[in-house]
Formats: sequence, structure tokens, C-alpha cells
Amino acid sequence: MRRINLKKANVARSDTIRYINRQIVLNYVREKEPISRAEISHETALQRSTVSLIVEELKNQGLIYEIEGESTGGRPPTLLKLRAAGCIAIGVDIGTSKVTVATGDLVGRVLRREVFPIDQDREKTLRSISNCIQEFIKSEPGIEGVGISMPGLVDAETGTALFVPRFKWRDWPIADDLRSVTGVPVSVDNDANAAALAELWLGRPEIRDVRDFILVLVEEGLGTGIIFDGQVYHGMEGGAGEFGHMTIGKGAPVSCAAGSEECWEAFASERAALARYAMKSNNSQNQKITFRQLVDYAFDGDKAAKEALLETAHYLGLGISNLTKGLSPEAVIVAGEIARAWPLVADELHSAISRNSICRGLPSAATFASTLGGDTRLMGALSLVLAGKFAGVVPA
Ligand SMILES: [Zn+2]
Repeated sequence: MRRINLKKANVARSDTIRYINRQIVLNYVREKEPISRAEISHETALQRSTVSLIVEELKNQGLIYEIEGESTGGRPPTLLKLRAAGCIAIGVDIGTSKVTVATGDLVGRVLRREVFPIDQDREKTLRSISNCIQEFIKSEPGIEGVGISMPGLVDAETGTALFVPRFKWRDWPIADDLRSVTGVPVSVDNDANAAALAELWLGRPEIRDVRDFILVLVEEGLGTGIIFDGQVYHGMEGGAGEFGHMTIGKGAPVSCAAGSEECWEAFASERAALARYAMKSNNSQNQKITFRQLVDYAFDGDKAAKEALLETAHYLGLGISNLTKGLSPEAVIVAGEIARAWPLVADELHSAISRNSICRGLPSAATFASTLGGDTRLMGALSLVLAGKFAGVVPA
């Protein structure tokens, strides 16, 4: 896959120019709809006849449609809009215990979903996923690609899951495996990277124009996705963004996935918050609760639950201030169930960030809660397909 700059149509090589021009027009309609052919031509510097040809093609493919604009005296202009309805992508969210396979439309709305448990035997998991995808493709003829979000180290370039610690999967060419069975293009990325992409394409409106931001995905573990200059920054072999394992201090309430009690993940993940709650609530029955329940308890006024969340937010803020010092992003977005607890934790989080940003001498980045809800990873998986569609990722 090769990235191109959408604003510079004229430098594209001739073998891919048709494809790129199509992406440019589609992207302008997506960003500026309703928009006229003349405006697209003016803004992209593509010839009016080229724009018209592409628009016809996109209309025939059912991706855009025409509406009548407001008349300013003469004939009302014909404007173009994105046809959001209709299946276009399949997202596969491989979680820590279950897989979600879902179909989505151009604006990331989930239309149909199946959920099943993960089998540690990757061949069995692969078979369940490909059966589900094939069934979806049979009933939805418009599917253009499959995106997969993985809880581990991924080489997005080759579509290989390099290491998924939870299931001890190593060097799994999952994109190739699924492509050969299903016959559709497959993209794969790490869950936090995919979530960052979802935030860029489907998330908060204030993020649309931000070129550099960090997404912090707080779940059982803690991952980060870095968007640098409007694209996911992968680093060598996809290893960038492993800030969950930066050292924060000693004596965390839990260990990180790799067994250390000094990592950010061990201080600021959902597991850390639950361990704090277990200690504070003196739960004699040692009842296991989920993080979702912990947030509910805190909203209901449970003191121990609130304290557990605030302490976790403090460490979350500490880590974010460290990232901000090193990378100076325009914004930081916190995703996962913790985003739902924002009214309870935001003050503590922001004060931890600003207290620890003093030496930097610059104001800290704006920190927001994600608006993607509980489906962040699935939205991420769908975004891998949508970004390819809109961002001018030229298929290799
Ligand atoms: Zn660690």
C-alpha cells in the first residue's frame, strides 16, 4: 500500500491516476457535501469533464447521488451527496475473548453483526471468521473490503499479526489467509491504531482537521495509536505506540501483560481500576465485577468505585502528560469504557496532566473523551476499509 497526497492530483503517476482521481472526487463529496461538480473541479484543479466522468461512474456504483440545491435566482444547482446507506465494508474485531464480525456503511454505521468466542487454535478462529464473512458477502453484494482489528503487534504493510500475546499467535499472515478464502481485499492493524483511524474518520468533528493526535485505548490493557500528519504512524514493523509499557513507577496494583508492575498499563488500565476497587471495597465475597459495572457503581455514588476511578484517572493523566512532552500532539483522545465515566474523571485527569506538564513550558494538548462509544475497536476495523476508500491508499 502506498499513501498519496489527495491535494496534489497532478503528481500522481499515470497508472494509478484514474483510481486516485476517483478517490479525490469521492473524498470531496464526503467532506464538503452537498457540493457541485463545478466546486469540485475548482477545488481539486481536475478538469470539469474529468469530474463529470468520475461523478457518473460513482453514481452508477451507487456511492453518490444528486439533489437539487437552493436557487439563487436562476436554475437551482445540482449538488452531490454521499449515499451513506448500504453495506460497503466488513469489520472484524478480534478482542480478548470474542470476535465480532459486522457489516457497515460508508459513515461507519453497523448494519449486521455476529459475535462468537475466540478459539486459541487460530485455524479454528480463522474458519469461523471466514465462514461469517462469506455469509455476509453472499447477502450483501456491495462489500468492498474487510478490515481487522487485532489485540497485538501487527505489520499492517504485509497484513501479518506478528505477535498476539493473549493467544500466543505469532507471524500469522491473516490478511492473506482471509483474502484467499473470501476473495475480497483485507487490511489488518493493531486495535489502538485502528481505533485512532476510526477517530479520524468517524469521530469528533474537532478531530477532522487535526493532523497530529494520540488515541489512548483503555481496556484490559492499554494501547496507543499515533496519528502523525493525518496518517497512522506505525514505526518499524508496526511497533510504534507501545506506550502502555512505559515505566510510570513502582508497585502498580496489577501487572502488565508482560508481567511488570511498573508499566503505565499496570497503573491505568481497566484491570488496575478493578484491582483498586477490590482493595477499597473490602469485598468479602470477592465478587468479580466488570469495568462497566464499576463505572455504573461510581455513577450510583459508590465511594470505593469513585475513588478507584479517580486514582486510575490520575495515572492515566500522568502517562498522557509524558506522551505530550515527547510528541507534542494537537490533541489526545481517550477511548474505551472510561470515556463513559468522563463526567466523573475529567477534572482529576486534566489536573494530573497540567501538574505534570509544568516543566515543559507549553500548554498541554486538549484531551477529549472518544465519542465512538463501546464499539471503538469495531469502528476501527471498519475504518481500515473506509480509510482505504477515502484516503487515497493505493492498493499495491
Ligand atoms: Zn509492561
